[in-house]
Amino acid sequence: MAGDSLSSLPLSRLKGVGPAAAEKLAKLGLHNLEDLLFHLPFRYEDRTRISPIGSLRPETGVVIEGQVMAADVIFGRRRSLLCKVADGTGMVTLRFYHFSAAQKNTLERGRTIRVYGEPRPGSAGLEFYHPEYQLDYADSGLPPLEKALTPVYPTTDGVSQKTLRNLTGQALKYLQAHPPQELIPAQLLDQSGLPSLADALSKLHNPRPDDPVNLLLEGKHPAVKRLVMEEMVAHQLGMLQKRAGQKAFHAPRLGGQTLFEKLQDSLPFNLTGAQKRVIGELMGDMKQAHPMLRLVQGDVGSGKTLVAAAAALAAIESGYQVALMAPTELLAEQHRENFHHWLAPLGIKVHWLAGSLGVKARRETNAALADGSAHIVVGTHALFQEAVQFHRLGLTIIDEQHRFGVQQRLALREKGREDNAHGIQVPHQLVLTATPIPRTLAMSVYGDLDTSVIDEMPPGRKPIDTLVLPESRRPQVIERINDACRPSAKKKNTQAYWVCTLIEESEELQAQAAEATFAELQIALPELKVELVHGRMKAKEKAERMARFSRGEAQLLIATTVIEVGVDVPNATLMVMENAERLGLAQLHQLRGRVGRGAEQSYCLLLYKNPLSHTGKRRLAVMRDTTDGFVIAEEDLKLRGPGEWLGTRQTGDLAFRIADLVRDEALMEPAKEIANKLMQDYPQWIDPLLRRWLKGGQNFADI
Ligand code: ADP
Ligand code: MG
Repeated sequence: MAGDSLSSLPLSRLKGVGPAAAEKLAKLGLHNLEDLLFHLPFRYEDRTRISPIGSLRPETGVVIEGQVMAADVIFGRRRSLLCKVADGTGMVTLRFYHFSAAQKNTLERGRTIRVYGEPRPGSAGLEFYHPEYQLDYADSGLPPLEKALTPVYPTTDGVSQKTLRNLTGQALKYLQAHPPQELIPAQLLDQSGLPSLADALSKLHNPRPDDPVNLLLEGKHPAVKRLVMEEMVAHQLGMLQKRAGQKAFHAPRLGGQTLFEKLQDSLPFNLTGAQKRVIGELMGDMKQAHPMLRLVQGDVGSGKTLVAAAAALAAIESGYQVALMAPTELLAEQHRENFHHWLAPLGIKVHWLAGSLGVKARRETNAALADGSAHIVVGTHALFQEAVQFHRLGLTIIDEQHRFGVQQRLALREKGREDNAHGIQVPHQLVLTATPIPRTLAMSVYGDLDTSVIDEMPPGRKPIDTLVLPESRRPQVIERINDACRPSAKKKNTQAYWVCTLIEESEELQAQAAEATFAELQIALPELKVELVHGRMKAKEKAERMARFSRGEAQLLIATTVIEVGVDVPNATLMVMENAERLGLAQLHQLRGRVGRGAEQSYCLLLYKNPLSHTGKRRLAVMRDTTDGFVIAEEDLKLRGPGEWLGTRQTGDLAFRIADLVRDEALMEPAKEIANKLMQDYPQWIDPLLRRWLKGGQNFADI
């Protein structure tokens, strides 16, 4: 197999791999030598020296060697085979629950035995449970001790550590005889001082006893960094390529500021500096003949809607249509109202498309979109149904993009696709998100998107005051709501949210919990008008109830997490969240953002149930200590890892095999530089790198 590339050599070429073994290895994702070599140990055992039994400490992996003193089957609560081993410094017990008579017979008194494992305290003092062991043979004795540390690999049923070690050993021999092609040229790695790929792999699979194992396991060793760097470079390349593909499309040039200036004149406030800057960035993009692909991040309440309106008006002024899509009907409804409020005075009708819309109204909207008389439509998923056709769709705006799948975003874009003589034309795309994306993640997941950040709040907002309280304080919390929200002649009353959370995904259970709280609080707060919204209600009913709360006709709104995004009632200044310990930071932050939208001081009361887990405690402390969405997002990333942070759907998008975005943040920038240089000077290595790390897959959020 001389000279072949590692990935072209199937594992069946190794000694001891027949069809059955190959199938089991495939289950671990191991198909060829390259896969095997990149399947790294998750810990190491030191089998290079023997520890005296007298000095054993619990839960530390060791090798001991001694004489079998006895081997007896004990009929206790569970039948077990106990074998006593002594070496002159002490005695220790091996315990087996699964054993055969033949096995017992080999454990003859006086025979020398070598045992590998981690002793734990048991009923007979320190015990090894089901340890690996070797017995001596009269002719050969015990084999020599290992010279390198012994790797322990992630594995599944049917593939033993011994098999993996043996196969990896063969692959490493091949590697040494045929050093692989370096896909990152040495010149580019020189500055980083990282080892070659072959050296890095050998070190990781077979470190010497004096190597700093902790550094290897913590990812701080140059051998790990070498692989991380290459993986990050591959991800960057994937994104650069994708971006180049996007830019190959055409888009209509959109511009014109007159309408937006008129809107600005009618507003009771001035734009913040950040809003102005971001609008400038959007205008710059939309003027181009290539599609804009821009993500606008702005904390809850930073005023993203107005920024979206600026882009929409520029498109409309250029004679193109705009579609604004939101993930829930509640949120879409709020956008419709905002846009209607702003655009009606300019003579622009805001059209509406959502699941709850009647057949007749839907047909009218569809007709207006198709003949071009409708300039802007706001709606939900209903927007990309087949019946919906646009006359000249020039801009799509998607709010809260985390909740949409890739396919849905693309489906909306396709509505504006036109194949003409010049090539393919698609609309500009604007994506809004209130979930701040930590810098590390933004670079790796959304590297193919331009991003703008609205990093300034409208003036006069007071930071929300957050209190963390045990469930036992519920009566006082209810009393506080009563004081603040009771309509009285003496002072203006405020409004409050009471959010019922449940960890269960089931909307049914959430709804039940909210119904129960609704019943309870109506009785406890007879002077207040209480409303209830939850996911099991019809959209229309939800909207009506929300509207009543919004108009101040109710003082307390009991809700499930359906109110998480978009709801805007500036007079509401008090929020209570039950079982706050069950929610993730991103969600807590989103929910809390429903208050603090007016000039009054707002409060958020987080009620928790004991016992509180360590992370639960940390999360609540973060919420109490900061209202800065970016700080919260960074903390969340540390606590949960990137996959969970983006929600399970996108976990796959971040399928790094070795890199860890939090741990390896510092390598991101250099990886980006190397990727750019590769694009320029070494294009021949791009495809092999993508194949090695991304398996040719599309691993990115696709916008
Ligand atoms: P989000 O970024 O969470 O979507 P919104 O666009 O809903 O925020 O804006 C929140 C509130 O702030 C709205 O009532 C909006 O009218 C108001 N607002 C937006 N921009 C400004 C500004 N520059 N000054 C004052 N209030 C503003
Ligand atoms: Mg919003």
